[in-house]
Amino acid sequence: MPRIAYVDGAYLPHADAAIHIEDRGNQFADAVYEVWAVRAGGLLDLPGHLKRLRRSLGELRIAVPMSDAALTLVLHEIVRCNRLRNGLIYLQISRGVAPRDHAFPTPAALPTVIITAKRTDLAAAEAKAARGIGVITLPDIRWGRRDIKTVSLLPNALAKQAAKEAGAGEAWMIDPDGTITEGSSSNAWIVTPDHVLVTRAASNSILNGITRLAVIDAASGEKLAFEERAFTRDEALAAKEAFVTSASAHVTSVVTIDGLKVGDGKPGPVAMGLRKAYLSAARQNSVALHHRAAGPLVARKAKRRIP
Ligand code: PMP
Repeated sequence: MPRIAYVDGAYLPHADAAIHIEDRGNQFADAVYEVWAVRAGGLLDLPGHLKRLRRSLGELRIAVPMSDAALTLVLHEIVRCNRLRNGLIYLQISRGVAPRDHAFPTPAALPTVIITAKRTDLAAAEAKAARGIGVITLPDIRWGRRDIKTVSLLPNALAKQAAKEAGAGEAWMIDPDGTITEGSSSNAWIVTPDHVLVTRAASNSILNGITRLAVIDAASGEKLAFEERAFTRDEALAAKEAFVTSASAHVTSVVTIDGLKVGDGKPGPVAMGLRKAYLSAARQNSVALHHRAAGPLVARKAKRRIP
């Protein structure tokens, strides 16, 4: 079955899906994105990601292309027509297509909306979570608005590549004051020797992860002591446990930092418990897609004027 992507109102075979070369997402990284995990056909944390998407669009003054209700329908349709049970949905909205000029186009362009779907090998993902991952640390060289989920991800991509080359699963980035900001595609957490759960407070320095927020909720259900504050690499190395959160990794233990063991070098009970609690709450809240039989898919070309 071919993968199906959504481009500006059209559902197209993935291989034929394309956008214009003068899309501002392509030329200036003038675009925002969101990623949803799909488990058992349901989108996890759907409202949280929609809310952050609105915020990202607002901060960059990109027009909202469709209502949350319409977008929800499209997201579900992409899950359905890709017959996705477990995987990831990627959504990107750019400021649109316009002749190249740094300033915003006038009159405003129509935002470009693209959505793609990708399958997850659940067994491999669970095995990775059971093993835990290593992280490396490196300087955070990103801009001052990391709270906006933009596609301007070059520092993150370089950091992830450095992690990969070091045989690690993630890179934790460090601000000039010595505190860890977050991972290249995840939020960073520790459990201190006196059993306090710590993650950095939301600010312009990090992306306020939707999984981060859901795990804060899950932790309050588990009655864990919790502090929102920055921590250093030394504090993380002295921690009982460390872990990352993201839509794709959920909650995944960090077992080494720069090759040095965290705790006993194995996934710890707090992280494993939070992973379970998070997934069960997220699954319960997710919207399963039982209501529509798969109909014939009509691919149609997006109609839009290209300058
Ligand atoms: N920080 C960064 C830099 C990220 O890219 C991500 C994943 N998009 C996260 C944190 C985690 O966010 P979420 O839990 O919403 O996936």
